[in-house]
Amino acid sequence: MPKKVLIIGTGLGGLATALRLRARGLEVEMVEKHHQAGGRLNQIKKDGFTFDTGPSFFSMSYEFDELFADCGIDNPLEMNELNPVYTVYFSDREKPFFIHKDLKKLAKEFEGIEDDFEKKAKAYLKQAGELFHDTENVIVKRNYDSLVEYAMSLLRVPLKHSPLLLRSMWQELNRRFDSQEVKVIFSLVAFFLGDTPFQTPAVYSLLNYTELQHDGYYNIRGGMYNITRKIVGLLEEAGVKIHYNTEIVEVRKKGNQIDGFVDQNGKIWKSDLYVCNGDAASFRGLIMGRKKYTEKKLDKMHWTLAPFTIYLGVKGKIKNLHHHNYFLGNNFEEYADKIFKMSVNPQKPYYYVNASSKSNPECAPEGCENLFILCPVPDLRFKPDWSDREELANNILEDMSERLDFDLIGNRVTQTIYDPTHWEGLFNLYRGSGLGLAHGLNQVAALRPKNKDEQFGNLYYVGASTTPGTGLPIVVIGSNLVTQRILKDHAINSHVALPKRVHQV
Ligand SMILES: Cc1cc2nc3c(=O)[nH]c(=O)nc-3n(C[C@H](O)[C@H](O)[C@H](O)COP(=O)(O)OP(=O)(O)OC[C@H]3O[C@@H](n4cnc5c(N)ncnc54)[C@H](O)[C@@H]3O)c2cc1C
Repeated sequence: MPKKVLIIGTGLGGLATALRLRARGLEVEMVEKHHQAGGRLNQIKKDGFTFDTGPSFFSMSYEFDELFADCGIDNPLEMNELNPVYTVYFSDREKPFFIHKDLKKLAKEFEGIEDDFEKKAKAYLKQAGELFHDTENVIVKRNYDSLVEYAMSLLRVPLKHSPLLLRSMWQELNRRFDSQEVKVIFSLVAFFLGDTPFQTPAVYSLLNYTELQHDGYYNIRGGMYNITRKIVGLLEEAGVKIHYNTEIVEVRKKGNQIDGFVDQNGKIWKSDLYVCNGDAASFRGLIMGRKKYTEKKLDKMHWTLAPFTIYLGVKGKIKNLHHHNYFLGNNFEEYADKIFKMSVNPQKPYYYVNASSKSNPECAPEGCENLFILCPVPDLRFKPDWSDREELANNILEDMSERLDFDLIGNRVTQTIYDPTHWEGLFNLYRGSGLGLAHGLNQVAALRPKNKDEQFGNLYYVGASTTPGTGLPIVVIGSNLVTQRILKDHAINSHVALPKRVHQV
């Protein structure tokens, strides 16, 4: 029976898998390229401000409960449900839309804009909810050993959902609603999958159900980085050693087993089992040398949009800004259809803003605000040169200053920009793609890179580009799936209690 596991990468997938395997009594060691844990779920501290680098909220909060329960620990995260779930500003409308889970309240927002909104939304969300419950356990939370097995699972999904396979999310919304505002707002969930609603299949309308009816959206008291901090604390207490500034660059193979991985300094890391939390597609190509994942082939795959992020600290309180805000223009179709394949900066960008100091005042000095601004942009295949990053940042800040009637540039105390070259360089995100491989029907379930290596019996994968996919709760599900595989493949059935003590934030 294997005794030791080496996990490459300390993103949420790697950390959650480490916790589950440690709870089964395995000795766990981790290597991480960056100087601190978390991957995309990271943190910047600068000039008295604290910023979460990537995720700012999540759905399916019960997946975190499941993770800790699986390890015999009480959930140490203070999860706050968002209410309203978010706010949307359109450039040609002064007042923002507040998006409430309560459909009666939401209908009030669309009064005079969408006739019979409540009735239409109920019907749309009913269909989305049925699809969610008909697929969550049957398709998503499953390991597949073959295409036949996947085909058999698909046969268990009621046929009534099949038209959604043939339409895009935008086409489905067009059938259901009349106003541009409702269609645009409901289609924003496509961007959480890292794509436009024109490319995203209508089956993902189930995400509207998760945000508006099911469990809603949550963030973490004290900042999202507390997820990383708490799990790392538990791992350290349980004796897991994490080696930072250590990048795996080469593999040692012996027959059908991995014999070790080599870091940038030539040190060989040996273990019984290995779990890679780096991108499951590009790691196979760039480190494992797989022919199916050469750069040429990786470039032909469908990748999610790249993030352009600004971490901005400002003097003063911004009255009109809420916790989660979308700032959109009035040319949605044209914008979303073209902008992500262009090699120039958008002049009137669409962007998302999270002001975590609104609910976590400790994240900014007194009387100040910390802003996380995210603008989806083309990945490095389409726009390799980001020397014009300041220009895009200024476009965004000028637009936002005007819309909020607050001089962000004049009141700027600190600013850090991550363009796609930073995201690629910091965490090995292929071509700077923010959420990993996209979720088109040819890149999901059994058709996504597997969480078990095709050739080597002691190598596994976890994270956004393997099954089931991207996003915090989905990656946590992925950590369960890979753990189940490892336990089954190696006949491990032990369980040890982890320390119960919860770290203070
Ligand atoms: C800007 C942004 C905003 C987002 N917002 C949200 C959100 O609001 N809600 C949500 O649910 N999701 C969001 N996501 C998606 C979410 O962050 C990811 O799906 C999730 O964090 C991915 O986790 P992962 O396990 O794949 O690990 P990753 O975060 O990819 O971490 C992998 C780790 O492995 C390390 N690594 C890679 N290669 C090597 C190597 N060769 N050697 C050593 N170490 C290596 C990396 O440095 C990294 O630390 C967002 C993502 C981004 C980029």
